[in-house]
Amino acid sequence: MAKKSRKFKTDVQQLLDLVTHSLYSKKEIFLRELISNASDAIDRVQFEALTNKKLLGKKEQDWKIKITPDKDAGTLTISDNGIGMTVEELETNIGTIANSGTRRFLEELQKNKKTANAEFIGQFGVGFYASFMVADKVTVITKRAGSDEPAVRWTSDGAGTYTMEDADKEERGTDVILHMREDMDNFLAEYEIRRIVTEYSDYISYPVSMDITRTTKGENEGDEEVTTTEEEALNSMKAIWKKMPAEVSEEEYNEFYKHVSHDYTDPLKVIHYRAEGTAEFQALLYLPAQAPMDLFWPDAKRGLHLYVKNVFINEDCEELLPSYLRFLKGVVDSSDLPLNVSREMLQDDVVIRRIRKSLVTRVLKELADLKKRTPEKFQTFYENFGVVIKEGVHQDFENYDKLKELLLFASSKSEEGKPVSLKDYVARMPEKQKEIYYLTAASLAQAATSPHLEALRDKDYEVLFFVDAIDEWVAQRLTEYDGKKLKAIDRGDIDIHTDEEKAEKDEALKGDAETYKPVIEAIQKHLEEEIQEVKLSTRLTDSACCLVADEMGMNANMERIMKAMNQEMPPVKRVLELNPKHPIMPKLLAALEKDAESSVVADYAELLYDQALLTEGSPIKDPAHFGQLVSKLMVEGLG
Ligand code: ADP
Ligand code: MG
Repeated sequence: MAKKSRKFKTDVQQLLDLVTHSLYSKKEIFLRELISNASDAIDRVQFEALTNKKLLGKKEQDWKIKITPDKDAGTLTISDNGIGMTVEELETNIGTIANSGTRRFLEELQKNKKTANAEFIGQFGVGFYASFMVADKVTVITKRAGSDEPAVRWTSDGAGTYTMEDADKEERGTDVILHMREDMDNFLAEYEIRRIVTEYSDYISYPVSMDITRTTKGENEGDEEVTTTEEEALNSMKAIWKKMPAEVSEEEYNEFYKHVSHDYTDPLKVIHYRAEGTAEFQALLYLPAQAPMDLFWPDAKRGLHLYVKNVFINEDCEELLPSYLRFLKGVVDSSDLPLNVSREMLQDDVVIRRIRKSLVTRVLKELADLKKRTPEKFQTFYENFGVVIKEGVHQDFENYDKLKELLLFASSKSEEGKPVSLKDYVARMPEKQKEIYYLTAASLAQAATSPHLEALRDKDYEVLFFVDAIDEWVAQRLTEYDGKKLKAIDRGDIDIHTDEEKAEKDEALKGDAETYKPVIEAIQKHLEEEIQEVKLSTRLTDSACCLVADEMGMNANMERIMKAMNQEMPPVKRVLELNPKHPIMPKLLAALEKDAESSVVADYAELLYDQALLTEGSPIKDPAHFGQLVSKLMVEGLG
């Protein structure tokens, strides 16, 4: 192959600029990234060799990642005898950004420079480019396992272009040669390399070695000094999940977490155990402290790393967890699976199913413990992943009882930032309260100011606020808790009064209905197309009116969600409830008594309806007309 020069794609260049100029405060992580790639490459060649015996040849394999600093040349070389890359692989893996997550991250960063956190980028695998933080030129010499093509030499200074040409290299694997920037030669010092490797890469399961030169005095006085150079592994190599929890330090756990998750903050909780019984495996799982950016991206990589008898099989084994636990990171190592499992086989493998079941049980138990023992920690978890847990309430029938105990909601009585669980809600219910009340709304602010709350507030009854889009689905599943029905306060009738009160209210209502019959009828006539019925309300104390859905009908929030999902919805007519105690009522009555066809009443009917829509956060049909009506009123109001 003749020497070719290529331009980086624009997005790669943007990424490189980011990495070199602003990204990581800790430049030393470049080494962790390169060692991690070398380790991945060895994992991969072993995995391919399971089905292609020829790949490795006859020679005994001596898996190794070697670090070679050269102070005279100012270079640091990281070599591995892993899978290597062909020209095409080099171009797709390093010349372009294949990962859609990375691309989307870049877009977001450009749109919103301040809020997007640049350190998030680690989650999307830009590891290799970290080289350019410390090197002003990087050379990669690589030979693909099992390929007859010659080795390739890739070179770039990270400023726009790279070149590729044939190279001399017979053995499979990759050398990454960093030509260090002038002020970065501290990374060529033996003790510094040793420190970085033990800090970040101790758990790597292959030796990360370096030639160590030692000078020793001879045994006797006057003997010459002896200098010996020996290759030495700098890491302990013990797969951390195989160790006993007592043997692992918090730092080790945290470092390994960053390796598996690409997160840059410490995890919230570590779950490390050995399962015995129907499924035997080792698991090291982490609850992240913050939600990753791609939590709701449909094409994001999910799943746990799967090892079988210490051999790496798959880095994103989705089958091990239900999708509502997709935020968990970590490793599962099983000896019950055959080494040559394929992705297709994983999909309905009994062993995998058993492991999954056991993992779910364990994780839900840990979450329940977290909630009980460290409520603040649980709340942090819930703020980040509560919405995902709610998916489980809807999907996982088997674990529904456990999942519903994890739910937290803001409420009409909860302090800001202190959501309440169903259990706590029930515990503090006034004795007379029979049902659990909730209100779905688009936001907390909207819920808190809803007219629907008025009568319940009067009774000192607490109302849960369901403000996540998914809460509508949660509400469909969660119809009862602890023998008490959940009741939406903007649907159907609410039964909050004692029999005596009810009798009294009914009496009053009957009288009011008689008195205001002309008003009710007139408004009904004007709003015929929009609403099902006009009624006097018992749920309002201060507001003039509100809209109420049928017991089974669709409420405002659900309608909004369906529209947002582009679902064609037939218009649902709701009931307009009027507050008989509101001062508007006698005025309207008087206007009608004066003139049964009063145009004022027509205007007011429309205004009342629009007002009811606005207070629940729904759009009004004709905002311009609404504006005109209000202006007209304002003028009249000032005489
Ligand atoms: P990630 O490791 O998250 O995929 P990197 O930027 O670290 O992202 O590496 C990009 C890709 O380049 C890797 O996925 C791999 O295909 C390839 N690669 C990097 N280093 C090596 C290596 N030492 N041997 C083989 N392939 C490598
Ligand atoms: Mg990498």
